[in-house]
Amino acid sequence: MSNERAMVIVGAGHAGASAAIALREGGWRGRIVLIGDENMLPYERPPLSKAILVEEMEPGPTLLVTTERMAELGIDHLLGRNVQSIDRSAHTITLSEGAKWPYERLLLATGARPRKLSIPAAPACRMTTLRTYAEALAIRRIIDARCKVVVIGGGFIGLEVAASASSKGASVTVLEAGPRLLMRAVPAPMADLIKAKHERSGVRVETGAMIECINAIEGQSEIVLSGGRAFLADLVVVGVGAVPNVQLAQAVGLAVDNGIILDHTLASSDPDIFAAGDCCSFPHPLYGDRIRLEAWRNAQRQGAVAAANMLGANRTYDDVPWFWSDQYDQTLQIAGLYRKEHGEVRRNLGAKGQLFFYLAGDGRLMAACGLGSLGTIAKEIRIAEKMIGRRLAPEAEALQDPAIDIKSLLI
Ligand code: FAD
Repeated sequence: MSNERAMVIVGAGHAGASAAIALREGGWRGRIVLIGDENMLPYERPPLSKAILVEEMEPGPTLLVTTERMAELGIDHLLGRNVQSIDRSAHTITLSEGAKWPYERLLLATGARPRKLSIPAAPACRMTTLRTYAEALAIRRIIDARCKVVVIGGGFIGLEVAASASSKGASVTVLEAGPRLLMRAVPAPMADLIKAKHERSGVRVETGAMIECINAIEGQSEIVLSGGRAFLADLVVVGVGAVPNVQLAQAVGLAVDNGIILDHTLASSDPDIFAAGDCCSFPHPLYGDRIRLEAWRNAQRQGAVAAANMLGANRTYDDVPWFWSDQYDQTLQIAGLYRKEHGEVRRNLGAKGQLFFYLAGDGRLMAACGLGSLGTIAKEIRIAEKMIGRRLAPEAEALQDPAIDIKSLLI
């Protein structure tokens, strides 16, 4: 066990890698130890359901940092190593093989894991979730024009897999238990547009689909719905949400409730332990609530802000939530968080796309959601994001009118 002062990061995903870099760039001169249980350099997950599944040549992972950069920054990356426990009073963590590392401050960037299906499935069924590069490669090797794919769950990951598989010619069915797609994060009219896009591309979408059991029949899976209808699949991809990895935090008595509970600086209930990314629940000044996000930009930014605060910056994390997804040739982008009680305004940009804005009772813009061509949607959502961050209350009529440049409302 080295006695050099060390910042230790558990989880070498997006938030962890971002924090490790920010710690060094922020002036930390002691040791930085980044520990991850995957046997790879930190990589981005969004391409797993997109480019990796469809690109002609087998693509490699999109690395967040190279070995050379890691060496240049003096980051000790322990890969393929699992952190088993934390000792808060001794300020140490213990790896599964027993080695102990002391920490001055600790960052938990443990991410989330796919939620398991609570439905009995025969062991012989070819079923997978999608969180890791290895799982993406396994899916990629199976999907082709002869393949029948059933996606269980109509959330972002399931729908991106459906779009990717169908663009490779596979016959795809999406089974969603809820009354519509994308129940958690996307307003109903936008979810309807996305459903229509999938159906135009030949994907069968079944909502209200309650699965009773999954049987193995001659090399295929048979997914049986309550009521008796059944679907055959060569591959079943399960995308029914993710669960935050909070076991380490919970075991040492840190406050946890759908994520590690943090304050506005991303510190946990122990001031020497911070958290960032998918595993944490934090208060958001714009929404007055505690939220947990599973989003690329959030992991990146929270890693950087947590690192600054581990060095004493006392910065509030108040970024406007932002998320994107690719659906075929279109981008879906969401800024802010919408609630059912918000007033809805539609901005119809014709062939370039559709936008929905969500206004609070006092007229403040709280969320915006756009689907369409990347150039147009990215620009409009960027402006909306600024309006949300500045707590502006644009006129609904102006938002609605595509002839009015949205930039002119940013005053
Ligand atoms: P992770 O990237 O999951 O990293 C956590 C790491 O910690 C993992 O490697 C895990 O194995 C490791 N770990 C956990 N416990 C331990 C332990 N005890 N010891 C050692 N290591 C441990 N977001 C978007 O905004 N847009 C998208 O289009 C989009 N697409 C996505 C597609 C897919 C298929 C997936 C899975 C996610 C997608 N996301 C997208 C979400 C985004 O990738 C995540 O929000 C982001 O990766 C979260 O980063 P993280 O560092 O919090 O967690």
